[in-house]
Amino acid sequence: MSHFVSLERYVPSPEDDVDFLYAAANGTARLGLWGYKDGDTVLTVRVVAGPGTATPNETRGSAVQVWAFSGLTAASRIQAFSGIRPFTGVLEVRLAAGGSTLADQNKALLSGSDPAERVFIGGVPVTAVALEKGIGDYANAPKMGTVRGLAVHITGGLGAANAWKQVFEGRGVSAHFVIGRSGDIAQYVAASIKAQAEGPGNGHFLSVEMVGFGNNSGACQEMTEAQLSKLRELWAWVRGQYPSVPNRLAWAYSGTAKPLSTKLTPLYREMAKSLSAANYCNGDSDSISACIDSGGLSCHYWLDNAAKPCPGIGIIGQLPQVVGYPRVRVAGDAEFILS
Ligand SMILES: [Zn+2]
Repeated sequence: MSHFVSLERYVPSPEDDVDFLYAAANGTARLGLWGYKDGDTVLTVRVVAGPGTATPNETRGSAVQVWAFSGLTAASRIQAFSGIRPFTGVLEVRLAAGGSTLADQNKALLSGSDPAERVFIGGVPVTAVALEKGIGDYANAPKMGTVRGLAVHITGGLGAANAWKQVFEGRGVSAHFVIGRSGDIAQYVAASIKAQAEGPGNGHFLSVEMVGFGNNSGACQEMTEAQLSKLRELWAWVRGQYPSVPNRLAWAYSGTAKPLSTKLTPLYREMAKSLSAANYCNGDSDSISACIDSGGLSCHYWLDNAAKPCPGIGIIGQLPQVVGYPRVRVAGDAEFILS
């Protein structure tokens, strides 16, 4: 079987899978088909429901062919075939919000009431602060791929949940959500748009910043009870929107190839080993791509090649509490947990 992939990189990897084909407001789109041959037979892509046409474009690498689409609407569905035999699942088409720039689209989506784009907690949408910069990650693939979970971060500084627009835009980084220390929450990026939070994990994990202080040694505050409680509500929304996301931790990164410090690197490894030994996640790995390819609740450190201690050993140990397990402590973590 084959599947559709985003064109985030020139030669897409099989892990660049997508849940939806997001077409521009004028009904055009481009997408890769990974595994475009069935033996010697070149697959064909068709619009199997609704309006639209599919046209083959260039091949990239040995496994991917790019397809161009036009005339699509939200009623369109696409699928690849080997002869008359279906060779992928049926992909749903979603039309991008009106607005020529990604900033305009983000603004439109966050001022609307689409429950697939905005988080509703207790029946009401959370406060929206639409970012205009630092979103989308790649100009040619600004939309989320298959969502495998939620990644937890720490801001490293204090402030209300809705007070981070200037910081995000100034640094060219972002997260979908921020949760303040009193449990206040704001949404900055619509759920279908990539935030710039965890490098290679951006396309598959939504992201949330927990407001908390951190210092240069990598010591961080842990989550308050109010934050933990709000994070559970956010997690419930994620699982409601993406039913294939398991109520577990995603794979934990246990490698030592991205050194934090002589004390922190072994501490983070020990935490990953403890979480997977307790079976709170399905496993741990020294490969960041293996962690990105797993599903569940995750965190910055497990998804990015960059050596950053975010969200801190205290918060990582609290992650099991979001999915219904007890907190995990490892020997030596107290030195890196600030009050
Ligand atoms: Zn982070």
